[in-house]
Amino acid sequence: MKYEALRNRIGGERVAFGGDHLGLVSPIDGAHLSQVPLSTAIEVDTAVEAARRAFADWSRRTIKERSQVFYRYRELLNSHFDELAMLVREENGKTLDEGRAEVAKAIEVTEFACSSPQLTAGEVLEVSPGVECRVEHAPLGVVASVTPFNFPSMVPHWTIPIAICLGNTFILKPSEKVPLSADRTAKLLHDAGLPAGVFNVVHGDRTVVEALCDHAHLEALTFVGSTPIAKQVYARATSNLKRALAMGGAKNHLVVLPDANVQQTAVNVTASMAGCAGQRCMAAATMLAIGDVQSIIERICEETRKTVPGENLGAVISHEAKKRIEAYITEAENAGAKVLVDGRGAVVAGCEAGSYVGPTVIDNVRPEMRIAREEVFGPVLAIIRAKDMDEAIAVENSSPFGNAAAVYTQSGEVAREFIDAASAGMIGVNVGVPVPREPFGFGGWNDSRFGAGDITGKNAIGFWTQSKKITTRW
Ligand code: NAD
Repeated sequence: MKYEALRNRIGGERVAFGGDHLGLVSPIDGAHLSQVPLSTAIEVDTAVEAARRAFADWSRRTIKERSQVFYRYRELLNSHFDELAMLVREENGKTLDEGRAEVAKAIEVTEFACSSPQLTAGEVLEVSPGVECRVEHAPLGVVASVTPFNFPSMVPHWTIPIAICLGNTFILKPSEKVPLSADRTAKLLHDAGLPAGVFNVVHGDRTVVEALCDHAHLEALTFVGSTPIAKQVYARATSNLKRALAMGGAKNHLVVLPDANVQQTAVNVTASMAGCAGQRCMAAATMLAIGDVQSIIERICEETRKTVPGENLGAVISHEAKKRIEAYITEAENAGAKVLVDGRGAVVAGCEAGSYVGPTVIDNVRPEMRIAREEVFGPVLAIIRAKDMDEAIAVENSSPFGNAAAVYTQSGEVAREFIDAASAGMIGVNVGVPVPREPFGFGGWNDSRFGAGDITGKNAIGFWTQSKKITTRW
């Protein structure tokens, strides 16, 4: 085992756990990395109590003082940058460059949180002579985030810095598939001077999530993961009268028109499909090819062949994931789709126990096929031919998901038509992974998000606080 067995981090302590553990294996080469506790409602309760105790002091500090911790934390993220990126790579399987991009985004959100004193200042008005109204943003109390496997560092950082800067105390339940980055986060926050109990990590699976949803003293919860679980978690947390925001899965459509720049489009579509081995909620899943875009498809296939497992393409999370992804490809092929580039059966020399799927391009996919409707979550591009924009938009709009959608064209008019018609929260124009940079919030529509608002950006301030309206006369 490369790393010592993980423990929960509660009240500033690494707490021993006598229950079941799950072995942790690297998707890169099958190496045994560590083991992770499968905690129970008891550990959740202990963490909530520790966070409640810490809240009394933390919430009374000024926001300027709280943000100073995150200025120091940002410096630690920078000085440990490569080590953190490598940890992401080891536990998730993505390439080192992708690990670096993820940590860079974690830093960007931390920087946004550092500006929370500026973002929450102001709002005062003399409403009648001598009478003033003003608004203050009060923290909620103990809050929690549940995160998925595909971004072990970035997704937890969507919420940790801003929720804590705003005065809440926090419990993270990371994915049991990638718990190492979360443990490192706790250590670095401690080193940055965050008081004990303000940030806690409870490892585990569904049991921990359900205990968080049910806990009487947890005020708010965010969830990021697949749509079926997002729905369940949102329903359970809100039925327990918590504030909740649950981000779900995706099926992102890229519409390509004949006037699109061939080279730029091919490179961009391929990167969107194959980046992070397709395990991104922003990944290109379906290309809607309008009219004659044959030259672009051929260039996409060339780019795809340059994307090599174990070199510039990482592993998928597990052997089960590999099997699932390959089954989607085979089923589509059997239903009449044409596999132009076939990533099935990929093996990386020296990493035979790793779980790799090569990048795959499939043409002549029809909208009713399972590969066109369901989230595959692998490096697979399904191409559906469409005769015009109306037909392409009909396919995009029929998807229950609504995370991202993109259009590739040189026409501003066509781009505008697409922006207006696409039923998705994040739109790209000649950009295949249209992740909004801070301070713009991240969030989809439809079955890609349950609850109101975005999980990052200015919306997050509203989510993690409650406003207090004060009227004074002296
Ligand atoms: P997942 O839904 O399997 O797991 C997410 C979290 O939920 C994990 O912490 C897991 O332990 C917990 N969980 C699993 N089963 C549960 C249950 N029955 N009840 C309660 N909690 C449970 O997701 P994943 O496979 O880890 O991540 C991939 C998914 O996340 C994809 O669908 C992807 O699109 C989605 N995702 C969405 C966004 C977004 O912002 N919309 C971002 C990243 C990932």
